Amino acid sequence: MNADPDCIFCKIVAGQIPASKVFEDEELLAFHDIHPWAPVHVLVIPKLHIASLVEVGPQHGALLGRMLGLAPRLMKELGVANGFRTVINTGRDGGQEVPHLHMHVFGGPRPWAKG
Ligand code: 5GP
Ligand code: ZN
Repeated sequence: MNADPDCIFCKIVAGQIPASKVFEDEELLAFHDIHPWAPVHVLVIPKLHIASLVEVGPQHGALLGRMLGLAPRLMKELGVANGFRTVINTGRDGGQEVPHLHMHVFGGPRPWAKG
């Protein structure tokens, strides 16, 4: 599978850096954010190294759909009862810090630290 040896999320996929995983299958991985903004804050990533939404093409449509579709399932499993927020930051002005496509999913009772 296509990986970038310098990418922190590729290292999590490869098991070289630990993460608190909440879901894993052949294509996707989800884990708790190391600096949560909300009571529940998970990141859903493709195992494939895709730098950002800018790199996504028509061949990734099903993958993106699966990432989104995983959010309600994970929130339910993590006890989030009253809705959640999904965010994909893209590029410098979009506030993207890790150049491996990821979707934030925030939930849990407010107030949240941010957002
Ligand atoms: P971005 O700003 O790129 O959308 O979000 C990157 C997120 O990745 C941040 O919320 C940050 O806390 C999280 N993050 C960065 N490095 C790690 C790590 O090594 N482990 C985990 N679990 N989260 C990380
Ligand atoms: Zn990567």
